[in-house]
Amino acid sequence: MNSFFTFDEKILNLAQQTQLACKDEFEKIDEIFEYNTAKVLNAFAKNHISESHFTPSTGYGYGDRGRDTLDLVLADIFGCEDALIRHNFVSGTHAITTALFGVLRPNDEMVCITGTPYDTLHGTIGLTGEGYGSLKEFGIGYRQLDLLPDGTVDMENIPAAVQGAKVVYIQRSRGYTLRPSLTMEKMEEVIAAARSANPEAIIVVDNCYGEFVQKTEPTQVGADLIIGSLIKNPGGGIAPTGGYIAGKHKYVEMCAHRLTSPGVGREVGCTLGHTRSLYMGLFNAPSAVASAVKTAVFAANLFSHLGYGVTPAPGEVRGDIIQAVKLGCAEKLIAFCQGIQKGSPVDSFVKPEPWDMPGYDSQVIMAAGAFTGGASIELSADAPLREPFAVWMQGGLTYPSGKLGVMLAAQSMLEEGIL
Ligand SMILES: *Cc1c(COP(=O)(O)O)cnc(C)c1O
Repeated sequence: MNSFFTFDEKILNLAQQTQLACKDEFEKIDEIFEYNTAKVLNAFAKNHISESHFTPSTGYGYGDRGRDTLDLVLADIFGCEDALIRHNFVSGTHAITTALFGVLRPNDEMVCITGTPYDTLHGTIGLTGEGYGSLKEFGIGYRQLDLLPDGTVDMENIPAAVQGAKVVYIQRSRGYTLRPSLTMEKMEEVIAAARSANPEAIIVVDNCYGEFVQKTEPTQVGADLIIGSLIKNPGGGIAPTGGYIAGKHKYVEMCAHRLTSPGVGREVGCTLGHTRSLYMGLFNAPSAVASAVKTAVFAANLFSHLGYGVTPAPGEVRGDIIQAVKLGCAEKLIAFCQGIQKGSPVDSFVKPEPWDMPGYDSQVIMAAGAFTGGASIELSADAPLREPFAVWMQGGLTYPSGKLGVMLAAQSMLEEGIL
C-alpha cells in the first residue's frame, strides 16, 4: 500500500477486499456528493457571494452583509424559508436549546417521538439537574413516545402521543445508541403521521450528524425547524465553532429573538472574521460528509467481514455519519480506539485510556485527534466500557485518512492478539 505505516499482510489484504466490496456503496455516496455540491454551489451563485461577504464586523455588528446573506444561503440549501447560522452558538445543544426556548411558552408541552433525546438535552428539558432554568422550571411539560424494542419509531402510537403538544420533537441521528437513524424516507412518514394528528404542532428536528448524508433535509419533508452543529457535518471541518437553526420564517425569527434579546433579534451579532470559515465550511460540507460516510461504510464492511455486529450494516441506507461496531469486550474497545488515535493528524502519538467521565455509569474511552476541539466530523471514536461493548465512530475529513484510521484500529487489535 505504502511505506509510511506498518500493516500486517492480513490487514492489507482485508482492506483491499473491503474496498472492492464497497464499490457500489461508494458510487451512491459520490452521486449524493455531486448532487449536494451542486445544491450548495447554486445557493452561493444565487446569492452573489463575493469576497466582500467575508469582511469582519465588530461591536453590535449592524448591517453585516456576510452574516445576513449566509442565512439566505443556508435557507436555499435546506429548501426552507429562513435560517440563522451563527458562530455565536457554542454547540449543537445551545442551538437546540435556543430553538426550544424560542418557540415554547409556559404551560406548553413538548413531545419527543423518537424515545429519549440525546444526553446533553436532558438538562435543557429538565430530566436532570435543578436550578439552572430548564424548560421544566419555566413550566413547559415534557412527554416522550418510546422507540419500539428494535429501535424504530412507534408509528402506530404517534397520533395519540402528539395530542395537545406545542412541539413535536424528532431526533434524526442514532446518537450514541444502537437505534437506527431516520432516513429521509422514514422522516417523511414520521412527520406526516405527527402532522395529520396535530396540524398545529411545531415539528422540530434535531438534525445533528444528518446534514448532506442524503439529497434532502427534514425541512423538505415537512419539518418546521431543523437544528445542527457546525463542528459536525455542515461546518465541513472548517468552521471552528457554531450552529444553525433553519425552517419556517416565523419560527426562525422567534429563535433569533431568543439568541440575542427579545426585540433585538438577528440585527446584532458581530462576526469578528469568522464568516469566511463558515462559508468555506458549508462549501466543503458535502465533501467532508461523503468522506465520513465512506469511512463508516469501509469500517462496516471490514468489521462485519471479521464477524462483528455492525450497525448500520453494509448496504443499509444511512441517515447519519455514525457507525457502531459491537466488539464484545473492553480490551477490544481499548485497542480499537488506540488504533483510531494513531490515524489522527493531531495527537497521533497519544494513547487514549478509559476514564470515569462525569455523567456515565461506566468508564469511557475516546479517540480524537482533531484540528477543532471536539469536532466529530473529524475521525473520532467513543466507547463506554459496558454491555454491549460497542464503539461508535464517525467522521473522516478525507476518505484515505479515515480508511487508514480504520485499518490502524484493526491492526491495533491484531497486535494485541484480539482481532
Ligand atoms: C451532537 C449532537 C447534539 C448536540 O451536541 P453538542 O455536543 O452540544 O454539539 C444533539 N443531538 C445529537 C443527536 C447530536 O449528535
